[in-house]
Amino acid sequence: MKIAVAEINLTALLHNIEVIRKLAPTSKILAMLKANAYGHGYLEIAEALTNVDAFGVARLEEATKLRTAGIQKSILLLEGFFDKTELLTIAEQQLETVLHTKQQVLDFINADLPRPVKVWLKLDTGMHRIGLPPSDFEFCYKALFQHKNVLGLMTLMTHMACADEQDNPLNQKQLSLFNKLAGDLPCEHSIANSATIMSIPAAHKDWIRPGIMMYGASAMSDSDAAEHDLKPVMTLKSSVIAVRDVKQGDSVGYGATWTASEDTQVAIVALGYGDGYPRNAENGTPVLINGTEYPLVGRVSMDMITINVGVNAQVNIGDEVILWGDGLAIERVARHAHSISYELLCGLTGRVKKQFS
Ligand code: PLP
Repeated sequence: MKIAVAEINLTALLHNIEVIRKLAPTSKILAMLKANAYGHGYLEIAEALTNVDAFGVARLEEATKLRTAGIQKSILLLEGFFDKTELLTIAEQQLETVLHTKQQVLDFINADLPRPVKVWLKLDTGMHRIGLPPSDFEFCYKALFQHKNVLGLMTLMTHMACADEQDNPLNQKQLSLFNKLAGDLPCEHSIANSATIMSIPAAHKDWIRPGIMMYGASAMSDSDAAEHDLKPVMTLKSSVIAVRDVKQGDSVGYGATWTASEDTQVAIVALGYGDGYPRNAENGTPVLINGTEYPLVGRVSMDMITINVGVNAQVNIGDEVILWGDGLAIERVARHAHSISYELLCGLTGRVKKQFS
């Protein structure tokens, strides 16, 4: 019986990269592999992605794991370094680094490095998370330009806060500020995450940085992945482990949060928040059993969920259940759980086995 398995479809991954290429045909692709490749398994995803130009990770530990496993491609560290030892590791392992504070820039130019390092200088244009404030940008750019510690051309980058909402005025504001401060400087340029790739062609520039769309989920707030010809890379599956009668008026699960309005049958599926299925999934969250959609009822437990399959349903112990992926858009499940596809994908626990094909 298949209990808590995440099937990872590498053909779908490569298909999604081709969709991305068609949207931004002249840009290079930096594929986001942070957070264990959004829960998909970074080594296998890195090895499969022969058709991209570089990888992006958040933490040094993620980058060194990829290098140690023999991944040769360029790897960009999105959060940069925080002490001399980390900077030395970046140089020694031939990683690339984002610099996003003035202190990082000063430490970088004053460091005695065994070899120069490729730098992505990050400008904050309105997200106000990481990135240089515009007032520090010119100083940092000049300090780095043609400095001996900088390998080749610098890339100037920013990150968009609201690109998933096409009409949000902050999009144009961020784009204009980036173009004004960085657009004409003799460097490469990079702005676009998935939502920006999908909705703002003027922001594609030299490097795009897709994450979620590569894994086959939509980055837009108003559309699902299939509308963009993206295919789910992960399909989360488990099995029915019990089917039982529930009488009208009987409640199901912890807290008795759902009561049967008529006689029915409930299928018990072996998967719960201990596997990363969202505990907030509400009554009515869709689940596929044998290709038919049924509603989740009652609270999600650690190891089990309960599904109302109706009184005449042909559902048996051992039947396959799809929680999201092929045939059931993760965005729909996420909406019922008051979450987003990113959180669901990254939240899978080690108990879920991965099967790559
Ligand atoms: N670029 C940067 C700097 C990011 O932090 C991220 C992810 O958060 C991405 C690109 C990819 O974003 P998405 O998964 O929305 O494509």
